[in-house]
Amino acid sequence: MTLLSVDQARERILSRFQSVTTETLPLAGCSQRVLAQDITAPNDLPPFDNSSMDGFAVRAQDVAEATTDSARSLRVTTDIPAGSQPTIHIGAGEAARIMTGASMPEGADAVVPVEDTNFDNRDAGTPAPDEVQIFKPAKSGWNVRPRGMDLLAGELVLRQGRTLKPQDLGLLAMLGFANILLYRKPRVALFSSGDELLPVDAPLEEGKIRDSNSYTLAALVEDSGAEVIRLGVAKDNRESVEALLDKAVESKADLILSSAGVSVGAFDFVKQVIETNGSMDFWRVNMRPGKPLAFGEYKQLPFIGLPGNPVSAFVGFEVFVRAAIGKLSGSSNGLRPTVRATCEEQIDSDGRESYLRARVYEEEGKWVARLTGHQGSGNLHSLVQANALLIIPAGVKCVPAGQEVNAWLV
Ligand code: AMP
Ligand code: MG
Repeated sequence: MTLLSVDQARERILSRFQSVTTETLPLAGCSQRVLAQDITAPNDLPPFDNSSMDGFAVRAQDVAEATTDSARSLRVTTDIPAGSQPTIHIGAGEAARIMTGASMPEGADAVVPVEDTNFDNRDAGTPAPDEVQIFKPAKSGWNVRPRGMDLLAGELVLRQGRTLKPQDLGLLAMLGFANILLYRKPRVALFSSGDELLPVDAPLEEGKIRDSNSYTLAALVEDSGAEVIRLGVAKDNRESVEALLDKAVESKADLILSSAGVSVGAFDFVKQVIETNGSMDFWRVNMRPGKPLAFGEYKQLPFIGLPGNPVSAFVGFEVFVRAAIGKLSGSSNGLRPTVRATCEEQIDSDGRESYLRARVYEEEGKWVARLTGHQGSGNLHSLVQANALLIIPAGVKCVPAGQEVNAWLV
């Protein structure tokens, strides 16, 4: 069996995937979905010069010398509520009452806030005065948001492959994109395997444990932007494994993901079954935890078999499956973002690329890391106590205290 580096294994997996097809959805349903088009602004933002304050639109030169003791008096010729289109021209000695977001009238080039005038009246329904005293000077452009200050027509705003955030939807709405071209969500069929596995609501029995991987992995699949099809638990026999794999095919999944049953144990049937209806690569990856990794295809569907130990399954997902789902979903980001963290204590490693459970915390603007609990691959509690995976590179046997390593925040 070949021993691959993590990068080699990931490359081999990724080369098997391409992005799913696209679909068009109304904007409201697009949060967290992956954009399948570049978005270019069809208009300037803001689309017109407008006021950033409730106040009076003036010619700055008219009030350049205004002070509380020497107020400038201006004739108020119109009232401009938000949403209206001013038609009047502001001439010398004139002003218009204007509301935040309202279009600037011709002639005016600044807005004096109400609090800098004698008309500091904010009660709704108060009509504009005929005259206003200005107590503070203004310069051209003050409190005016000029057309295009945020964005110019023709600018590239969002790139294909971006996972849309709530604020992206707001910007798309501002620009009038009612329907968006997205990648459809990849579908991942998931099962666990093992005769020892009990459902979550069953009382414990001697020799049995509850199936936890189904829950961790389903949530990770959803977190990475895919839909999960839960197929349950396969027993350690050919028929049961084959039945679930066939269900995965019927469900029109883009990827079959399983945990356990792919190692070299006497009851590990997954490999055998896949080989009769597809092909199987089974690798040892030079990593810890999660050395055995099964990859192949079953009836033409890609298959990834993660190790059964709960922490290995989690790490295997983060290292390989997140990137695969990222590629399927057309996303431009595959792996978790990396931060640099300083090890608080010496860390010994065995030379494999290691993903160690740690808590990282900020100290004087830097991330500092401390391992959590026992690193055995069955100890899920120590993963729950962690907020990061420290990545110790292959070939490194000792990281002295004070040295920096890469970490994924999880
Ligand atoms: P296996 O790869 O089948 O040899 O399983 C390796 C270890 O992972 C064994 O201790 C299993 O009991 C455990 N294991 C397998 N599947 C699950 C699961 N779904 N939830 C929790 N532990 C599991
Ligand atoms: Mg097993």
